[in-house]
Amino acid sequence: MSLPDAAFLALQRIDVLAGLIAAAAIAAFFILRRRGRAGAKSSGSEELIRMVEEGMERDRKQNSVGKGLGEEDLPGIEARVLDALRGSGVLKPIPMPASREGGDYPEVVGVSWKQAREAIEKLIEKGLAFETEHEFSAVSCPICGSCSQIALLSCRNCGSFKVEEVKYYKHSCGFIGPESSFRSGGRLVCPQCKLEDGIEVYYRRYRCGDCGAEFEEPNIAFKCGSCGSLYDERTMEIKPFRRVESSREMLDEYERVRRGLEAEIEKLRAEGYVVERGASLAGESGVVHQFDAVAKKGDEKIALTVSFGEPVTQSLIRLGIAKSDLKLREIILVIGRKADPTEKDFAKSLGIRIVEALE
Ligand SMILES: [Zn+2]
Ligand SMILES: [Zn+2]
Ligand SMILES: [Zn+2]
Repeated sequence: MSLPDAAFLALQRIDVLAGLIAAAAIAAFFILRRRGRAGAKSSGSEELIRMVEEGMERDRKQNSVGKGLGEEDLPGIEARVLDALRGSGVLKPIPMPASREGGDYPEVVGVSWKQAREAIEKLIEKGLAFETEHEFSAVSCPICGSCSQIALLSCRNCGSFKVEEVKYYKHSCGFIGPESSFRSGGRLVCPQCKLEDGIEVYYRRYRCGDCGAEFEEPNIAFKCGSCGSLYDERTMEIKPFRRVESSREMLDEYERVRRGLEAEIEKLRAEGYVVERGASLAGESGVVHQFDAVAKKGDEKIALTVSFGEPVTQSLIRLGIAKSDLKLREIILVIGRKADPTEKDFAKSLGIRIVEALE
């Protein structure tokens, strides 16, 4: 388990604790900031703060990776993958011959496998999609991971590629012999009774032109079409391809939350705020905080974000830290269900306004 995963699980566990502990952790975060980190003993709340910071760092890194995708950034591709999921409910990979990636999701048009996978990972992380049935496994290069290759016959004995197939034929009269004994001009003729009908392949063998060894079973080697490496069945990598699915409930909640966010943005615009989407703000601590939108009017800033695929308490802990760090007037958190009283109290204590995006 990687560290961010561990942090995520730990935070989920923390979620079952009351908001009080989280509030204490946020207070401790700023006390520790003021004291400086040198010599500070590792306490439970310090551990929590470290995990929250790591989570934010991870988000920041993922975001900068997303920006590197070219003309269309990750959120755009995510939206297209979501559209495809909404349309068909499932993304079923199909094998793609002669491709590096080895497979494709035909439902997602105009997006490379790599981009689609990155978007899917993000959707899985957010709880919007999950992997189900295994569709197929592709052979891939153990050196570079490419699925583009040519399969070659190789000698089991000496490794040479000068291996040819030797066919033995059987005629209905009972005669069995190698192909050469049946060849007569361009045709196959039984050497015993001179008839052409009723000749069939009796068995195949594979013969090495270098060492002369013969084999019953072919030995397959692969030459990588991307890096040129040679590998075989013993050294090949296997790349699994699974279906990706989403549930109607998840997508509905997601759409509700997005609509709720849009409605809040519209309200703020009507009040004269200038709204920037997908904004990030650097706090006093130097940590960069990401939001779905930031509304500005004069010196006043309001951040807007949604909670999806993350426990609401966890979102609140994260946003509580961001709010103090950024000196924001308010943070609006849109969630896809009714907030429970504990969540409401906790949000209020942090100066975060929860908006319930219900039907
Ligand atoms: Zn050989
Ligand atoms: Zn014959
Ligand atoms: Zn390779």
